[in-house]
Formats: sequence, structure tokens, C-alpha cells
Amino acid sequence: MATELLYLRDAYLRTFTARVTDARDGGVALDRTAFYPTGGGQPHDTGTLAGLRVVEVRKGEGDVVWHALGGDGPRPAVDEEVEGSVDWSRRHALMRTHSALHVLCGVIWNEWGKAVTGGNMEELAARMDFEFDPLPEGFATRVEQLVNAELAAARPIEVSFLPRDEALADDALIRTKVNLIPESVTEIRVVDIVGLDKQADGGTHVRSTDEVGRIKVVKTESKGKGNKRIRLEVVDG
Ligand SMILES: [Zn+2]
Repeated sequence: MATELLYLRDAYLRTFTARVTDARDGGVALDRTAFYPTGGGQPHDTGTLAGLRVVEVRKGEGDVVWHALGGDGPRPAVDEEVEGSVDWSRRHALMRTHSALHVLCGVIWNEWGKAVTGGNMEELAARMDFEFDPLPEGFATRVEQLVNAELAAARPIEVSFLPRDEALADDALIRTKVNLIPESVTEIRVVDIVGLDKQADGGTHVRSTDEVGRIKVVKTESKGKGNKRIRLEVVDG
């Protein structure tokens, strides 16, 4: 049975109860979880489960979420009810970072018409690659200004669930490659930074762009033809 992903509808949920559905190699699978498993460029959460440290979270076969547990304490058994608590400092930093990257995508599309080709994030630091060739003159300063203006504008960030055919009829979602999502997925989760950027996305985000703070572009580099990398940090506003 697939694990119910509580963070998809409520990214601010920090504690929850769940039932252990499977146990293996010192880790457990749950019927539902607020822990984000590594994926979509966003690293996994940490925290505690049944009083034990959660050291890694990943999605396994059948969309079951596995929680690797640290320490030597006794593991919860299958069918046991457990309490989970997400390390909020790490998660909220990742939410701020993830939302900052979507703002960056929206700004770069609106200003330069370039699409993203890849990316990765850590707590309050990230890199993202775009189809520039070459980067425009004065790019780092300009993009930092534009992104910080959008963050300060306190744009709402809304999460919704659309039937697949509706999502495929949305130009903004097509631009961000919603058509590449497997056909077996009938309901598409959409993260909408209202008026700026709309993407099919499974990550956790803050509610408003001003909750991100500001960004600093730390470096730009070429990763080959038509592929330029931007490294950034997220700092308090
Ligand atoms: Zn995303």
C-alpha cells in the first residue's frame, strides 16, 4: 500500500501519528507520513519517529516511504502506532530554498525566455542550470535584483490538484513540461506562485514569497553549450 504523503496538502505539518506497515534493515514504512523523501531535487527531512532519530527518508517500490532510523533503541513493530516529528529548522530552510528556486525559474523565463535544465538544493543553498548561451552581460547582479523584488512582493504560493487533462491544457504548465509526467498519474499537483510561476511539483513550499527572505547569487559557471549554472544562497530578508 502506497504511503499517504501528508506534506503534499500541508507543508507546515510538523507532528503526526501513523501506523507501521513494514519493517526492514532497522527502518520502517508507514501508512502515512509528514517526512519528505528525497526527490525532485529536494533532500529528505530528518526528525524523530517513535523516539528514534530519522536519519534518511526515501521512496521505495510501490510509492512506499521508508524511514531509516538511527541509534540502538528497539524498533517499532509492524502495526504499531507511532508518533513522528519533523526537524522544522531543516525543513523550513528547504521550503524557503525550494520556493526561491521557483521564483528564479519564473524570473528567468519572464526576463530572458530561458528554461531550466536541472538543479539541486541543500538547506539555504542551491544550484540551478538554464539554457543560456552565453550568460548575458551583468547577469548575476540583474537576476539577484529581479528575484529579490519578487520575493519582497509577498506573492502567495498556492498548491492545488488538477485532473491531468486540465493540467495539459494550461500553457504555463506545458512550458514547465507537465506532459512528461507519466500517463498513469491522473491528478497533477500544481505549485502556483501567483502571477509569476506555475509548475507541476511534488515539493514543499512556503505560503508566501516574503517568507523566503532574499537570495544572493554566489557564482555563475558554464556547464557546456546551452547550459549555464547559477549558485545561490538564501539569506534572511
Ligand atoms: Zn520544485
